[in-house]
Amino acid sequence: MIDPFGRHISYLRVSVTDRCDFRCVYCMAEDMTFLPKSDVLSLEELDRLCSAFVRLGVKKLRLTGGEPLVRRNIMWLIERLGRHLKTGALDELTLTTNGSQLAKYADDLAKAGVKRINVSIDTLDPEKFTAITRWGKLDKVLAGLEAAKRAGLETKINAVALKGVNDGEIHDLVAWCGREGHDLTFIEVMPMGEIGDAARLDQYWPLSMVRAELAKRWTLVDSDYATGGPARYAEVQETGKRIGFITPMTHNFCESCNRVRLTCTGSLFMCLGQEDSADLRKPLRESEGDEALTAAIHEAISRKPKGHDFVIDRRRGARSNIRHMSVTGG
Ligand code: SAM
Ligand code: SF4
Repeated sequence: MIDPFGRHISYLRVSVTDRCDFRCVYCMAEDMTFLPKSDVLSLEELDRLCSAFVRLGVKKLRLTGGEPLVRRNIMWLIERLGRHLKTGALDELTLTTNGSQLAKYADDLAKAGVKRINVSIDTLDPEKFTAITRWGKLDKVLAGLEAAKRAGLETKINAVALKGVNDGEIHDLVAWCGREGHDLTFIEVMPMGEIGDAARLDQYWPLSMVRAELAKRWTLVDSDYATGGPARYAEVQETGKRIGFITPMTHNFCESCNRVRLTCTGSLFMCLGQEDSADLRKPLRESEGDEALTAAIHEAISRKPKGHDFVIDRRRGARSNIRHMSVTGG
């Protein structure tokens, strides 16, 4: 699949559910209304859709959400998709998780062929962790990380940089990741969903400033390491681990974008920051063969835009993208 700007589309991110057992303040409202079950693709449908993408050249598949590990029978899907790793059609099957269910699933994930996972942890302070996630317990997530380590899974930590919230802790996070053997990626908070943009505007902390703060204590050496995702990496000389920076707000990484995103209702978003989407559920449900589905995927890729236009602008106030992160899966 090649888009109109010559970019090879080889990375599919799939939100397998919009539900979650946390209510992170920057991601969801506390009283979220979730999609009716009938709108959500079945696990069989998700398998069919993902497999169609693999056939069309997707080499990396990331399951996300909402929280992927709260979807009932999710291991069935992960094990099914694991068959594409065995044939070599797929290079990587991975997931982004809040870690709450990891203690339960780590062994099964490893057995299914998952090698690396991303776990989101913004703070190592248990009280702050519960304040940010509203419903989360840090010790449960840390137990999940231990289980992942025992199972041989490589874990990268994702932390949203939040001014006034975890800005005093970034050095501790780097040191902790160094000790535990995790790479760490900082993410800029993005204006997704209508959930109190005023607060998010105050919490917006450009990663250029995060990096400048980190450089006071750590020797950061730019690295050309790439995972096929949007992060730019630097190596921390003191720990030997990497720090990634995902900067959708300040940095335009669109020119090398190889990704598309599928929601749990079968909408394909060609760009995280744009509204245009293609409905793949209809062709999926309307015929048993994959011809119409394949045509719809090609048509969607031909509409992938050149780039996005997130803006957080203090003079005009925050512009909010109407989709929640839990819909398109971060
Ligand atoms: N529940 C899983 C988790 O938290 O890792 C997967 C889905 S979550 C939407 C994926 C990532 O998006 C997480 O690392 C989360 O911190 C991040 N995220 C959510 N809302 C965000 C926002 N408004 N700005 C930046 N990152 C956000
Ligand atoms: Fe759930 Fe992840 Fe959103 Fe937090 S960021 S509410 S864990 S989907």
